[in-house]
Amino acid sequence: MSLYASRLKPNAIRALAHLINRPSVISFAGGVPSSQTFPADEIAEIAARLIRERGSEVLQYGVTRGRAELIRRVCDYMRARSIEAVPEQVILTAGSQQALDLLCRVLLDPGDVVIVEAPSYIGALCAIRNSGARIVAVDLDDDGIKIDELELVLRQSGRSVKFIYTVTNFQNPSGVTLSSERRQQLMDLANRYDVMVVEDDPYGELYFEHSPPRPIKSLDEEQKVVYLGSFSKMLAPGLRTGWAVGPTGLIRLMELAKEAADLCSGGLDQALVEECLSCGLLERRLPVLRDFYKLRCQTMLEALSEYAPQGVRWTYPRGGFFVWVWLDNMDATSLLEVAVEQGVAFVPGQPFFADEQVGGNTLRLAFSKETPQRVSEGISKLMMLIRQAQCS
Ligand SMILES: *Cc1c(COP(=O)(O)O)cnc(C)c1O
Repeated sequence: MSLYASRLKPNAIRALAHLINRPSVISFAGGVPSSQTFPADEIAEIAARLIRERGSEVLQYGVTRGRAELIRRVCDYMRARSIEAVPEQVILTAGSQQALDLLCRVLLDPGDVVIVEAPSYIGALCAIRNSGARIVAVDLDDDGIKIDELELVLRQSGRSVKFIYTVTNFQNPSGVTLSSERRQQLMDLANRYDVMVVEDDPYGELYFEHSPPRPIKSLDEEQKVVYLGSFSKMLAPGLRTGWAVGPTGLIRLMELAKEAADLCSGGLDQALVEECLSCGLLERRLPVLRDFYKLRCQTMLEALSEYAPQGVRWTYPRGGFFVWVWLDNMDATSLLEVAVEQGVAFVPGQPFFADEQVGGNTLRLAFSKETPQRVSEGISKLMMLIRQAQCS
């Protein structure tokens, strides 16, 4: 077995799947889009047409970098969001998870340091850990990563820090958004300490009222930022299409690593996404998605304020899929066992922290998957169980 193999561990959420995916259970666990939002009929029609009319092209191997036409569309999409990119600076990947994995392969050696938020996205933590790098976490508050603590870590860890990983909008798992002021401060620190920034943004378009501040990538004058986008939460994760925008040299290295990983991503998937962009389907659906998830989020926040006992605190997301909860002196993993028996599930917060000693009293609630009625029902049930546990 290789050293790489010895570092592999199951993803803590995926390992819970057998517990939380029973249909009778109201699940706030999986951070997945509602399957109700998938434009299945439209995609079926587009797929049938693509295969019939352009089968020899879309069923054939494609180039590693991804379909040129979709890359051009991604550049347009980025430009509309204040990010200037030319095709040489873009690679399409099998979801942004693959981009994370490729980045870790080309940027990290064992012993390097990566700075993440506490808490952070489990998929990124997995990819970083597999590379043998050391993770240093910096706390979040309501405005995102704490800049003064970040600077302290940069000063202490010096040259060993390879990149800062941040989910800027409606963060997974906390629901928090990095403020405009802190985006500029983070950019300044990255330039000053000469470290890369990986800006992971799968939820930016799923805002409820106002679009979030401009991406860090739009402030990037020294080519220090890699921006990751994904169609998983806006269209359907089964299409496995995401992208990275970054410095030409780095994107080229990711392309070489991808060549060995999978030759190319699914050409049919990419052609489907391309059609969804070119016929305007994606842009038409975004306002619908925002309303859809806003209602679920509001329902969850209202139920929390109605049913939560003393000592329970939570975040107020302005988009995305997640609410983060702090319990008063209670272990979320033990609570999960009782909760699942009673028909409601969530993800304990500990695995989102790089440090195994912290976060035992936290949990993540995803409002994305369940109907508003079941959201309300599930929160009332869960809060009752917390109240009972507090009394015992
Ligand atoms: C869902 C998610 C992703 C990746 O999804 P893909 O399906 O691989 O594109 C990446 N980062 C975060 C923070 C996510 O929540």
